[in-house]
Amino acid sequence: MNPPEPAADVVGRLREYFHAGYTRPVHWRRQQLRSLGRMLTERSPAFERALAADLAKSPTEAQLTEIRVVVAEANHLARRLQRYLRPRRHRLPPSLWPARGWTVREPLGVVLVIAPWNYPVQLALTPLAGALASGNAVVVKPSELAPATSQVLAELLPRYLDHEAVVVLEGGPDQATSLLEQRFDHVFFTGSAYTGRIVAEAAARQLTPVTLELGGKSPVWVDHTVDLRAAADRITWGKFLNAGQTCVAPDYLLTTDAVADALIPALRASITRFYGDDPAASGDYGRMLSADAVDRLHRMLTTADVVIGGAVDPAARYLAPTVVDGVTSHDPLMREEIFGPVLPIVRVPDAAAAIRIVRSGEKPLAVYVFSDDPAVRRVFAQQTSSGALGLNVGVAHLAASALPFGGVGPSGWGRYRGEHSIQTFSHERAVLSKSLWPDTMRTVYPPLGRMARFVARRVIR
Ligand code: NAD
Repeated sequence: MNPPEPAADVVGRLREYFHAGYTRPVHWRRQQLRSLGRMLTERSPAFERALAADLAKSPTEAQLTEIRVVVAEANHLARRLQRYLRPRRHRLPPSLWPARGWTVREPLGVVLVIAPWNYPVQLALTPLAGALASGNAVVVKPSELAPATSQVLAELLPRYLDHEAVVVLEGGPDQATSLLEQRFDHVFFTGSAYTGRIVAEAAARQLTPVTLELGGKSPVWVDHTVDLRAAADRITWGKFLNAGQTCVAPDYLLTTDAVADALIPALRASITRFYGDDPAASGDYGRMLSADAVDRLHRMLTTADVVIGGAVDPAARYLAPTVVDGVTSHDPLMREEIFGPVLPIVRVPDAAAAIRIVRSGEKPLAVYVFSDDPAVRRVFAQQTSSGALGLNVGVAHLAASALPFGGVGPSGWGRYRGEHSIQTFSHERAVLSKSLWPDTMRTVYPPLGRMARFVARRVIR
């Protein structure tokens, strides 16, 4: 095997290609998006096998949460590209008349996409689709912790996409570090806040703008106004999908004593209905990243009141769907993002107390409110802040290309998906065009006399 091409050479090559204008035409962009979709459809078995090897995802889950999400995003962008890229005219102030002003969306240049391991297909390729739709050349750095998927991406992307415009560079922190020493026009990072800080610092040294898609603790509020069986199904699905390793998974649950007492049996019933009596034997229940990841969470369970699940097999990377009752704000489970199949329940007197807990933490990626009471929905909407708000539903907003996906504050900077990806991966260039004759600007040329004073006082407002 040849040694990998140095990052500086790759970026230099991509920049030349970009400057030569190959990535600019709309038909090139559409063709790339169509090829991306075709790759995922034709080579589905390879992606399914890789996701099973890396994360024990079932083929259907791989399709639902990774492969088809990217296909839908690529189709969405391909269909609407012309509309999203259309120049927009803007009204100008009378002081500039006669003139025309408009904005055009321009590609940025060479973009770096750094992806995590938990949805290693979706979170590498959805940003890639946006970067290509915007007419950029792209370096994709998949996660070394999903090695089978990384390998498939490295093998297939150059075969289906324009390999002079898209390069996959595999590797871990060393590879990412040498990439971040290069001058990119945008860095799109998905991963932990810890690494996000390193990426933001490295990008700042080059004055490169960054999008950070990070994590956090997304809370769930449940009250007595909803059908608890249906709510339990939704919460169970969102929480235990991919063994809880979903950035927008419900992290902890806030509810009252009365609701908690009724909800726990409903959650137990949902878990059994979804994964059977022994989730270890279910083909639809995933595995954690590593034995260490299992151990980290298992250690937090030793003092907790485990009411559902709790079984572990670190060697098999297995931790059962687990619910812990009576957790307080000081519990280790409430100190960091759980990122695994453990759902703590924090009992509170009312919605106001729940909101105080949510606001005492960092702004999360999502807040989920299971309530049919409009006043409760409104108070959560107005008094909390998060990347997204789910009303009687969690996680599923990921499936909507029309909705912006991203965090706020410590859960992330910037957003993407659909038109929001075009905004992220392109520059909105302002254009002002004014004929030289008649020269209405003469009024503001020095020496500044009566007309200039009139313009300053009466025209500019
Ligand atoms: P991570 O931060 O460990 O790794 C993410 C990527 O960064 C990988 O490609 C890794 O190789 C690279 N990396 C590692 N060290 C680096 C360094 N020093 N400099 C530059 N890059 C480096 O994250 P992870 O463990 O893969 O993912 C889990 C985290 O990601 C969780 O916090 C989760 O909430 C978050 N996440 C967020 C989203 C989102 O869309 N907001 C999606 C998935 C995961």
